Amino acid sequence: MAYDDDNIFAKILRDEIPCDKVHETEHALAFRDINPQTPVHVLVIPRGRYESMDDFSTGASDAEIADFIRAVGEVARMMGVVDDGYRILANHGRDGHQEVPHLHIHIFGGKNLGRMIKPVDK
Ligand code: 5GP
Repeated sequence: MAYDDDNIFAKILRDEIPCDKVHETEHALAFRDINPQTPVHVLVIPRGRYESMDDFSTGASDAEIADFIRAVGEVARMMGVVDDGYRILANHGRDGHQEVPHLHIHIFGGKNLGRMIKPVDK
């Protein structure tokens, strides 16, 4: 599927809509989720036009991948959630309930997050 340049995170990257930025690097931008699910809920996105981990993992350069992953770790340290723990999550596609079609890693923390996922019907 073609990348949608009108998605909300593409607009944030183009400074067409604001975000609560917490960190930026050459290839990544991190900002607070507009509807936080936990006391710390930050999204880290690559600057490149990648829809999800699927095309990022195949199409991004080594430099983009390294910078993006390092940014995730750096943001967690900046948010002060390393000692008590945090969770990262990236949804892909329909079954993953991905809402915004630009790769984003959620960083959740600031409280006990419970078990990883709720059991669902198989
Ligand atoms: P997904 O379900 O695609 O993994 O998560 C999308 C996330 O983007 C949601 O947690 C939602 O709250 C967040 N979000 C949607 N629109 C905006 C926005 O305009 N600004 C920010 N900061 N977050 C957004």
